[in-house]
Amino acid sequence: MKKQFRSILNEKGRKELPNILLAAAECAPLSKTGGLADVVGTLPKALKKLGFDARVITPYHRCIKDKYADRVEHMFDFYVNLGWRTQYCGIERLMLDDVCIYLVDSEFYFGDKIYRGGQAEGEQYAFFTRAVLDAIPNLGFMPDIVHCNDWHTAMLPMLAKTQYGGAIQGSLRWLLTIHNIAYQGKFGFDYVQDLLGIEDKYYTPEFMELNGCASFLKAGCVFADRINTVSPTYAQEIKTAYFGEGLEGILSARSSELSGIINGIDTRVFNPYTDPALPARYHKGRLSGKRLCKLELQRNFGLEQRAEAPIFAMVTRMTEQKGFDLVERMLDELMQYNDMQFFMLGSGDKDYEDFMRNSETRYKGRLCAFIGYNEELSHRVYAGADFLLMPSRFEPCGLSQMIAMRYGTLPVVRETGGLKDSVKPYNRYTGEGTGFSFADFNAHEMKDAVLLALECYHKPEIMQSLIRQAMEADFSFDRSSEEYAKLYLWML
Ligand code: ADP
Repeated sequence: MKKQFRSILNEKGRKELPNILLAAAECAPLSKTGGLADVVGTLPKALKKLGFDARVITPYHRCIKDKYADRVEHMFDFYVNLGWRTQYCGIERLMLDDVCIYLVDSEFYFGDKIYRGGQAEGEQYAFFTRAVLDAIPNLGFMPDIVHCNDWHTAMLPMLAKTQYGGAIQGSLRWLLTIHNIAYQGKFGFDYVQDLLGIEDKYYTPEFMELNGCASFLKAGCVFADRINTVSPTYAQEIKTAYFGEGLEGILSARSSELSGIINGIDTRVFNPYTDPALPARYHKGRLSGKRLCKLELQRNFGLEQRAEAPIFAMVTRMTEQKGFDLVERMLDELMQYNDMQFFMLGSGDKDYEDFMRNSETRYKGRLCAFIGYNEELSHRVYAGADFLLMPSRFEPCGLSQMIAMRYGTLPVVRETGGLKDSVKPYNRYTGEGTGFSFADFNAHEMKDAVLLALECYHKPEIMQSLIRQAMEADFSFDRSSEEYAKLYLWML
């Protein structure tokens, strides 16, 4: 056990590391729609290396059944009371990479969709919440801390503390991680009350009421013992009205129990020296392979074959969050500069997709818009581009900028959330930096940052040095898992 952990345990008067149960709607590689799944999938493995027994409880979605059914072992089943319904619930167990994953089985709630959307999603995850609480005493594994993630599991601490007094669930400690505060799980109170039997007195602004709705996430912010988010800057930002989505009050009040831990990436998967998706491999000491990746990208996607033309790329969901309004506003001006090329890989809002398709026609040979989701191509884009543009309106953590740096592609980002915490902006006096940044959500500020990037691009020594610094930065998950380990210990 690490010395640092031992000394915290001593201070807490404990000898053993706590048992951790992570509860989440998705868990990679079993089920995944976003970054949450990566954290839930990677964290227990990393914690295991630090000596923790960390397990996961997650819905047994159809996509998991399809792939893993023959490896899953049935543990027990029971009936869950949900409003007027009584529903079957099975608890299955799957061992994956030495991590124990409990799967909550219900054909009724976990069919094809991980998220059903609308009211139905509220019932889906109310069921999951009740199932987790009722299953805990029978798992044969007693967690000290239950680590909840986002609104789907945010009701766990409230129910445990208000409905399970005297039972084992009522004595556990609860951590809530907010991956994106914009998604809160807001429903009519009568509906939630009917499903989960919540007393009237909790439907007030002090507890779970928000703008005339019952907010699952707010309940979590009120009742969890500790709250954290996925970057230190985002932890500060969500205490303000601009970012807080109505939860800034409770989060400011609980400021001393709120912190931020930046996520990491899987550095074995994202490694330009071993990545099978790339046409050529490279490392920071030998970048010739990166040049080949660029030429291949240009060749395969109809861009002019010019190694000296800088490529700016975006690999992203195309939504307002990701700053597409700024891109729309500035694209024409930027395309006037220095034979710049642009590669868009993404999908999302139709208006943004149409804008990029239209731009492809207008800038034939200089702009490629690949509308869709393509994991393998994303690797080739990270390797082949020179810069990654990420002008997000808000960004709780962001993974794309870390992946880009690992591939020696310099991010140009807005200074918000995890972008601010992971990209060191170029300093022309010291030569330090791993990318470029701008402060305000403003198209002209973004343009200035892009122009500075272009200026550096034409100074090979500066560029080489920035690429080296970016590739040397540590974005491994081990760093995050140590922070989580300390947070758990302080919660005891
Ligand atoms: P968010 O979770 O808000 O979408 P992140 O930057 O945290 O943003 O994570 C996005 C992840 O999804 C990155 O790994 C990125 O490479 C990947 N990604 C996004 N869009 C695409 C796409 N169209 N094709 C392939 N990968 C994508």
